[in-house]
Order: sequence, then C-alpha cells, then structure tokens
Amino acid sequence: MNTSTVVDPTLPIVEPTPEVVEGLDYWRSLPVKQQPTWPDKDKAAAVIGELHRVPPLVFAGEVDNLRSSLAAVAEGKAFVLQGGDCAETFAGATADQIRNRVKTILQMAVVLTYGASMPIVKMGRMAGQFAKPRSSDMETRDGVTLPAYRGDMVNGFDFTEDSRTHNPGRMLEGYHTAASTLNLIRAFTQGGFADLRMVHSWNRGFAQNPANRRYEGLAREIDRAVRFMEAAGADFDELKRVDFYAAHEGLLMDYERAMTRIDSRTGLPYDTSAHFIWVGERTRDLDGAHVDFFSRVQNPIGVKLGPSTTPADMEALADKLDADRTPGRLTFITRMGAGKIGDVLPGLLEASQKLELTPIWITDPMHGNGITTQTGYKTRRFDDVVEEVKGFFAAHREAGTHPGGIHIELTGDDVTECLGGSQAIDELGLETRYESLCDPRLNHQQSLELAFLAAEELARIS
Ligand code: PEP
Ligand code: MN
Repeated sequence: MNTSTVVDPTLPIVEPTPEVVEGLDYWRSLPVKQQPTWPDKDKAAAVIGELHRVPPLVFAGEVDNLRSSLAAVAEGKAFVLQGGDCAETFAGATADQIRNRVKTILQMAVVLTYGASMPIVKMGRMAGQFAKPRSSDMETRDGVTLPAYRGDMVNGFDFTEDSRTHNPGRMLEGYHTAASTLNLIRAFTQGGFADLRMVHSWNRGFAQNPANRRYEGLAREIDRAVRFMEAAGADFDELKRVDFYAAHEGLLMDYERAMTRIDSRTGLPYDTSAHFIWVGERTRDLDGAHVDFFSRVQNPIGVKLGPSTTPADMEALADKLDADRTPGRLTFITRMGAGKIGDVLPGLLEASQKLELTPIWITDPMHGNGITTQTGYKTRRFDDVVEEVKGFFAAHREAGTHPGGIHIELTGDDVTECLGGSQAIDELGLETRYESLCDPRLNHQQSLELAFLAAEELARIS
C-alpha cells in the first residue's frame, strides 16, 4: 500500500524501490512475540485493510523535525522528557485527563528547562499507548482462567470471556481514540494554552502541595523574566507554541504495519501511528520481527534496555537500527532498577564510546523497580525511582556522556499508585485511588517532585 503522507500535488512523487516495499513485510518471516490471536480472521483482515486507508495520524515532516530536535539531544545540547500512562485506555481519553497529563508534562518541562538551561524535547506516552506486552498469556482468578489483558487495542480489562477475547475492531477504535487525543494535544499546545505566559495557569486545578508551591515560586520568576523581555521589546512568537510529540511502544504489528506509509517526497516509509516509537524489553530480540520492522521506518526509534543487556547486544541493536549512526535516530531507554544501574550502565556507556555509537541515553526509572505489596498491589517506591535517576546521572557524569532524558509513567491526576513522595503514600494509602490497569504511575505531585530532582542533577552538568 503506497499512500502518500504529503498532500502537495505540485511536488514530484518519489516512488519507493521494490526493496523498500518488500522489506516492510519481511518481519512476517521472523519470530514475532506478544501478538494477539484474532479469532475472527475475516474481521481482522477487514480492519487491517481499513487501517491501510485511513489518514496518517502524524506527518513525515513532523517526524523529521523531531529527529532534528533529537539530534541536538544526541549532541548534548537538549534533554528529552517522555511521560504518560503505562496503558492508555479508551475510557480515559477525556478532555480533563488529557489536559491534566499535558499540563503535568508542560510543568515538568518548565522545571527542567529552568534547571538545565537547555531545550526540552517533549513527548507523551499518549495517543497510541494502547497495547501491552504481558509476562503471561493467561490470567487466573478464583479458578477461572482467561486471556490476559493486552491493552485496550486488543481486549477489555473486565474479567469476562467476552471482554477478554481478542477483538480486531479495537484496533480501529484505538486509531480513532489516538486521533481525537492527538487533536486535543495539538489544540492545547498550538492554540495558546502552552504559551509560556500561561505558566501559572498550568498549576491551577491541582491540589496544593509542596511541589506545587515550589513550582509557583519558579513560575513567578519566569513571569518576571518574560515581562522584562516584553517590556524590552522582545518578540515572543517562539514562546506561544510548543512542539509536543506522540510516542508509544511499537508492539502490535498488524497496527504498526498498516499505519506505515510511503512518504512521496522521498519514497521512504514512516510509521504514521506516532512520531517516536520504542521497542520494548520483551520484544527487542535481534532476529525478531519488531527490530526488523522498525529498522526500516524513518521514525526516531527507542529501545528499552534492561539489566541483562550486554555491550554486544547494544552494539548489535545499533548496527541493526542505526547502521548509519545518524544522531537522533536511536535512543536507548535504560530500565535497570535502582540497585543495578550502577553496575550495568557504566559498561554500556564505555562500550558505546569505544564503538563510536551516537545514541541518546534516556532513563526509565519505572520498569526496573516494580514490587507487589502483600495486599496484591503492583507498585513502585518513589525513593527507588529517585535512586535510579540519580544513578543514571552519576554514571553519565563518570563516563563524560550526556544524560539525554527521562521516561516516566505518570498521570496528571491525584492517584495513589506509587509509594512515598512528600505525600508519603503508604501501602494502606494505595487503596485510596489506584486506577492504573497496568503499571503504577507517578501522580501529579510526584511527577513535579521528580522534575525538580532531575533539574538539580542537570544543573550540575550545565
Ligand atoms: C512499558 O514501557 O510499559 C514497558 C512494558 O516497558 P519495558 O518494555 O521496559 O518492560
Ligand atoms: Mn509500564
């Protein structure tokens, strides 16, 4: 399917080479993990056909812009903030929830910009984070065994046979939910809401807490600086709009393949389901379908690296995903665990320097720090998250490499899913408001606290 992402009819159309077209389906001959089994094959084929025809969610030019911004990160001149739900849900795609998440990320970005004095590249785990890898295919409750929940794009969370059956129609619903989420994000970030002169308003509507108060102080300083510059006649067009990019785990091959389009300017493929796609820890096999497929699209690609990653794995991933060593193309998202990062990351950084790789390094301090309470809640200790972030900065300081960003599971709401923080959420407190269908997220306050901490670490190096 050759659907152009460019609408300008005056430009010459560059056709893709046969190698490019065939390459996009090569993954089908490789082992593929974590995929649904659609019981209704005809319906699946119809949905996939429809997904090939729908308009792209993002455009090739936007993806190129992101790659250029990420090139600056790879060169040590900018910092990445990625945040959002572990698993977005269709029901959660409301204006309030989307706005709170965007506000939280904008606030964190302001805190980081101020600390780091460098541009922050902002990305949401939003508008497409609907498919989840699971450690087990099945889930048993009270003697009843059903397929595990794999994200709203595959099946429902309700523990009934009907809801847990893999339903390809959910891919279309995922596409439309992503489209309306992205529409609202674009409206918020391009339509004046993200104007730096609104820096106070992003704090409104959140319960008052120490992190918010600290933010208010910073917002007042920014306000004063902006008013001074305005009085001096500076032009603030640049401050009115914010580039905010969509990112998710590229997991569901039927969806990602169908959303991939050939850019008519270049004849090259772009996965138009999101600007940035990452390959998860469970599907990053070198000879597997995911790495092969994503090696062939032009989007900036992330790969999660867990504590068992060897320098040889890292090198092979770079060879496959970033053979030309293009700064901004490849991001390693390390998720080692607070207790392991100090042992594993330095070796990878040293090897990366020796091999002259040019990846961006981002810390995901969430996925290596999961615990389950005796009462059965999946949670994380805020202190462990902080420890891993500190370990990340320390390893980069030691190696002389650039700590390029943070990747956080967060929500703008006042949930109680992670232990600790200045609210000191304890095990009992988890019961108050635990809403995640998958991994626990930092709430609004914990997210701001973490941003202040990362800003202090960044200030030490800039
Ligand atoms: C995730 O990001 O939600 C996830 C499953 O991460 P990982 O692949 O690092 O386990
Ligand atoms: Mn997760």
